[in-house]
Amino acid sequence: MTLKSPQEIAVMRQAGAITRGALDAARQAVRPGITTLEIDKVVEEYILAAGAVPSFKGYGGFTGSACVSVNEQVVHGIPGERVLNEGDIVSIDVGAMFNGFHGDAARTYSVGRISADAQRLIDVTRQCFYEGMRYAKVGYRLGDLGAAIQQYAENAGFSVVRELIGHGVGRNLHEPPDVPNYGIAGHGQRLQQGMTIAVEPMINAGTRRVRTLKDGWTVVTADGAYSAHYENSIAITDGEPMILTAI
Ligand code: MG
Repeated sequence: MTLKSPQEIAVMRQAGAITRGALDAARQAVRPGITTLEIDKVVEEYILAAGAVPSFKGYGGFTGSACVSVNEQVVHGIPGERVLNEGDIVSIDVGAMFNGFHGDAARTYSVGRISADAQRLIDVTRQCFYEGMRYAKVGYRLGDLGAAIQQYAENAGFSVVRELIGHGVGRNLHEPPDVPNYGIAGHGQRLQQGMTIAVEPMINAGTRRVRTLKDGWTVVTADGAYSAHYENSIAITDGEPMILTAI
C-alpha cells in the first residue's frame, strides 16, 4: 500500500474529475434504444478529449473504455450490441488515468421508467457507500467500513457480493489494500491519512451468489435478480474522507 502526498492527491482529484465527468456524460446518454457500445463511445470520447486515458481499455484484454452491465449483470459487462430497454437498470463503471494516476467510479442508472423495487435497489446501494464513508476516517479499520455497508444492505433485505471488492487506487488501477463491502467491525487494516481507495458496494436484490458468463468477463447474479453498483475513489484525510471522483 502506498500513501499519497497532498500533491499526489491533487493530481488524483484531477483524474477523478475526468472520471466523474465521463460518467455524467454516460448518464445523459442513457435512454431506451441506445446500445451499450454507444455508451462506451461516449465515455471514451469524453476521457480522450480531457487529455486522459481510459484505464479499462486493454486491462487484462478488456475491449471497452467502460464496463456496462445491465439488470442481473453485476459488473464487467462488455460494451456491445445490446440495446437498453425501458425498465432496465444499467451499471456503468469508468476509469481514467491522468498524469499517471487513476480515477475509478461507477453508478447504476435507470433506463426510462423503472419499477419501485429497482429504484429502491439503486438508492440503497448508493446509501451503502455513504454508510461506509462514516468509517472512512483515521481511527477506524477497513472492517468497520465493510461492516457498515453490509449491515445497511442486509437490513434493507438485499445481499452483498463477496467475490468482487473495492481496492486501493493510485498509480495502479488496482493496488493494495483490498476493500471488502462486508466485514467485522474492529477488524482489518487501520485507515491512514494518505490512503486512496475505491469503495464500491455491489448489492444484489436476491442471492449474493454470482457467476461469470462464458465471455470470461460478465459477472451475473446466480438467480437472475437485479444488481446495482455505486463507486467512488476516495482519499483518507485528517478529517472527513475526500471524494476524488467528484466534479
Ligand atoms: Mg473499482
